[in-house]
Amino acid sequence: MMKKAILFDLDDTLYDYEPAHQKALKAVYPIVEKEMGIPFKKFERLFDLSKSEIHRELAGTASSHNRVLYFQRLIEKTLKTLEPKITLKLYNTYWDTFLKSMKLKKGVLQTLKKLKKEFKIIILSDLTAHIQLKKINKLGLTPYIDFLVTSEEAGIEKPHPSMFLLALNKVGILPFDAIMIGDNPNKDVEGANSVGIDSVLISNKVKRNQFSEDYKKPDYIIKEIPEILRILEDIKKVKK
Ligand SMILES: [Mg+2]
Repeated sequence: MMKKAILFDLDDTLYDYEPAHQKALKAVYPIVEKEMGIPFKKFERLFDLSKSEIHRELAGTASSHNRVLYFQRLIEKTLKTLEPKITLKLYNTYWDTFLKSMKLKKGVLQTLKKLKKEFKIIILSDLTAHIQLKKINKLGLTPYIDFLVTSEEAGIEKPHPSMFLLALNKVGILPFDAIMIGDNPNKDVEGANSVGIDSVLISNKVKRNQFSEDYKKPDYIIKEIPEILRILEDIKKVKK
């Protein structure tokens, strides 16, 4: 049987998040040092603390990832007052640097180019639309992407079925027509499994037999994005 659409997670699936994030934090720090006079280690700790507070308070929503809230919280904790100018400067510097620093994983563009001829391509991602649109644009993915579904748009994050069903609705297809590729077992794999979409986990570390419950098991595990081409060929052959 032929798939009709490929659903991709974005962060840590098509590009590596951590190097871009680290560069962005380093670019933000001189502003922090000037305005707040705290050492880098303390800034990192405060950022993580602010982030985990916002995560907890806004769990399951796109806003839980909004860096403007992290920086606002960090400044309110440190300076005990609201500083709109500094908050926005940190936010803009963070994303300007992050976007410039992102690098696609090996083989992503070539793979998308091939897939685009046969399939609809959808990005399914837990964040605000504004930032994910910027990432897609900056990574040069625009020509290959048909639809984007963010948790901001769906009102709830992966693994909630709403995210996945909204993606299927946008294309006008059924779950068995789609395959989902992502790096997060709890979000991408469980979410796809829960609505009957084939799941592909991209990971260097995990093995299929380490998943005890069926609903957690990815249908396929790959190490690099181009491997998806072979999987799709196999699916085409086997399930006629
Ligand atoms: Mg991810």
